[in-house]
Amino acid sequence: MTNTIAAASKAGSGTAALQARGLMKRFGALQATNDVSLDLVPGEIHGLIGPNGAGKSTLIHLLSGTLSPDSGQLLLGGRDVTSLSGHERVAAGLARSFQITNIFKNYTVLDNLVLALQACSGSSFRFWRARQAETELYEQARALAAECAIDASLLHTQAGVLPHGEQRKVEFALALASRPQVLLLDEPMAGMGPDETLRLTELIETMRGKATMLLVEHDMEAVFRLADRISVLVAGHIIATGTAAEIRDNEAVRQAYLGDDDTPVPTKVESHA
Ligand code: ADP
Ligand code: MG
Repeated sequence: MTNTIAAASKAGSGTAALQARGLMKRFGALQATNDVSLDLVPGEIHGLIGPNGAGKSTLIHLLSGTLSPDSGQLLLGGRDVTSLSGHERVAAGLARSFQITNIFKNYTVLDNLVLALQACSGSSFRFWRARQAETELYEQARALAAECAIDASLLHTQAGVLPHGEQRKVEFALALASRPQVLLLDEPMAGMGPDETLRLTELIETMRGKATMLLVEHDMEAVFRLADRISVLVAGHIIATGTAAEIRDNEAVRQAYLGDDDTPVPTKVESHA
């Protein structure tokens, strides 16, 4: 994996799974995103951290297509997707998970997965007989559940009554249903206790390589554990990109979080928005 990433890095921008170029977004007098350029190397987990108000959510909205940039470009696997809507970006292979929960709470876990798979199957089932297509979808849904460590005994449980940690797994599975090339993980650990956070961290670890992931997360321990590389956003601008060790030792990063103090980057630095 690391070799793949190094090789892809060397190969240059043409091979980036997702490439933001000079993204600008202004809200009135506030430059929320200031010339953000970011390359996601195929297969990597890329962490995005920054103090509260740095512009992380704004950047995620620009990437997922819920906001349009004032200027700048977004390339997905080399293809310019800047003018595509959120749905069109999902169809092109760029999916977002968490924060926006798209679980149908009154449906069972299995039916949620089937619906997600059906939604992204496009025309591939059009020529199939309905029953055969349905059987196939249910088989795929069971496989997807297993892949995301969802307990088989929970498949017929209403999604709305699952414990928080299990719901996150289902949300993760829903995002994976479209087999995205790039997955935006928007604060997956939000509202979770330490045990659930650890389990979700382990789940994301097992998904490494299945999609290129951009992980925005308050829980520094999770980010530093999972991320191949980390970018630090401060006042709308990326001030550093590097490995966990490089980011920990980066003086500008320390100062952005802690002023002139030389305390190491703490495990949790901001309150949830
Ligand atoms: P983060 O997610 O890093 O905490 P945000 O992207 O939410 O940061 O916000 C960056 C800045 O942009 C903040 O100062 C915030 O108040 C401002 N902001 C975010 N969204 C809007 C909006 N829709 N209208 C006006 N200001 C906004
Ligand atoms: Mg935010």
